[in-house]
Amino acid sequence: MASSNAVPALQAKGIKKRYGNLEVLKGIDIEAHTGEVIAIIGTSGSGKSTLLRCLNLLDNPDEGEITVHGESIRMKRQRNGTLCAADSKQISRLRSDIGFVFQSFNLWPHMTVMENIIEAPIQVLGLSYPEAVARAEKLLMKVGIAGKAESYPMMLSGGQQQRAAIARTLAMEPKVILFDEPTSALDPEMVGEVLGVIQQLAQEGRTMLLVTHEMRFARNVSTRAIFLDAGRIEQQGTPAEVFDHPTSARCRQFMASQN
Ligand code: ADP
Ligand code: MG
Repeated sequence: MASSNAVPALQAKGIKKRYGNLEVLKGIDIEAHTGEVIAIIGTSGSGKSTLLRCLNLLDNPDEGEITVHGESIRMKRQRNGTLCAADSKQISRLRSDIGFVFQSFNLWPHMTVMENIIEAPIQVLGLSYPEAVARAEKLLMKVGIAGKAESYPMMLSGGQQQRAAIARTLAMEPKVILFDEPTSALDPEMVGEVLGVIQQLAQEGRTMLLVTHEMRFARNVSTRAIFLDAGRIEQQGTPAEVFDHPTSARCRQFMASQN
């Protein structure tokens, strides 16, 4: 269960990011405690993807601090002014600890589903081939595509590809999983199967940050919600506060536009 006293699984402070003249993140503080499911919502362009990408340094923030289970990621400033991890071992661990599920799945097209899943556990975690395969088989069962291990991504439906991508993320046994609109690229009839997997992960007590436009799902699955607006956290609180009774006018307006 989430506890405000415990060390957060993931904590970020003062995250700022600009692209040219566009200030996309204007100083974001966010922390995810173990077992929390945080829904991040907001209009298109409000900075949701940039925030998630900065949290595991897929994008380099201009300012900010990131801590994973109390371990602070040492940063250095690059020539272009942005920050990156100073220690390659630490960044590798950060990427293992903070899983990322993309809107567009990002499976490697030239590898089977099994190969996609076992690659990082073998290369990064040092699992043996049989260990990695055993882990992958369990995960494929869990996400409901046990029969697709030898298929290539292009042979799968979007929903199956996303479930394979989730299995690939889970294979690293991450402490936190970041989902960036995991169902936005799917045909409507496939949304449910992916949301079902995410709901199952939530019930297991996984720590997750979920960017989604599936408002009803976000309302039900989250333990806390954050409304991002123009690069700032405009409102946050319980799902009831944010979804049902927003105090911020912008959040109210956004919620009204979703129905
Ligand atoms: P959201 O995920 O909330 O829709 P994004 O984080 O993708 O928003 O984008 C926030 C803003 O930053 C948008 O105006 C977008 O055009 C801009 N942006 C995002 N990535 C880049 C990039 N690599 N280069 C330039 N501008 C970007
Ligand atoms: Mg986005």
